[in-house]
Amino acid sequence: MQIIDTHCHYNLEPLWPEWQKHWVSAQASGVTHSVVVGTNVTTSRQALEIAASEANLRVAVGIHPSEYQEQLETPATFDNQLVSLSEIDTLASQAKVVAIGETGLDYYRLPDDQALQTQIKAAQQAAFEGHLVLAKKHDLPVIVHVRDVGEAAYWDVLALLKKHSLTQPFILHCVSGPIEYVKQALDLGAYLGLAGNLTYKTADHLRSIAKVAPADRLLLETDAPFLPPVPHRGQTCEPWMIAKTAQFLQTELGLNLDQLHANSQFLLD
Ligand SMILES: [Zn+2]
Repeated sequence: MQIIDTHCHYNLEPLWPEWQKHWVSAQASGVTHSVVVGTNVTTSRQALEIAASEANLRVAVGIHPSEYQEQLETPATFDNQLVSLSEIDTLASQAKVVAIGETGLDYYRLPDDQALQTQIKAAQQAAFEGHLVLAKKHDLPVIVHVRDVGEAAYWDVLALLKKHSLTQPFILHCVSGPIEYVKQALDLGAYLGLAGNLTYKTADHLRSIAKVAPADRLLLETDAPFLPPVPHRGQTCEPWMIAKTAQFLQTELGLNLDQLHANSQFLLD
C-alpha cells in the first residue's frame, strides 16, 4: 500500500516536537509522502523546518480561519504576527512549499454576540481572499478548510472561489457540507480530501459525498493529530493511522488506492 498523506500536522502538538518518530511509523505503514500544513505564521515556519531535512515532506503555508476568531475574541493577548499575510507571502517563495493553506471559513463555534460574529466572519472572508491572491501570485494550489453547523460557510467559500476565478487547483480538505455545494465545487475543479471521520458509523453523509465525486478528484489525508479513524476514536490521531482510513475506503467504498496515490501527485511538484 502506497499512501500520500495530503494533509498532516507534524508541526502541531502533540506530534510536534517529536515529529520524527511519527514520520518513521507513518512510512512503515505505507506513507510515501506527506504535506505538512501550517495553521498560522509560527506553525507554517515549523512546517518548513520539519520538511527541510526530509526529502518526501512538503509544506503548505497559511492561516487557519479559527485564528481570526481567537484574535477577535482575545485581542489583548493575541499575537497579531501569527496572522500576518505578508509573512505567509514571504514563506510561500520557499522551494518546499507546494500549497497555500490551510485557509477558509469556520463558522462552527461562533460566539453568541452578533456584532462579534459579524466581525469574525468578515475577518475570515478577507483573509481567505488574501490567501487566494497569494495562491495566484505564487501559482500554488489552495488547501481549503470549511466547517459550519449550518450551510453558510460552505456557500460563502464557493462564492469567494468564484469571485476570484481561481485557475489553480484547490482541495476541500476534510470535505463536508451540502451535496449540492460539493457538486458545484467539483464543477469548479475541486479535489476532495478524505479523512478518518469517513470511517465513523454516523458518517453516511460524508460517504455519500465521496460517492458523488469523480474517482480522479479524491485525495487521502489524516489531518493528524485530529480525526482518528475507527477503531482509534478518542485517541490522538497519529499519521500512521491513515492506513486504517485507506483500508476502509478500499473495502467499504471500493476506492482504488493506487488512483488516490496518483491523484495526489500534483501536490508534490
Ligand atoms: Zn488541518
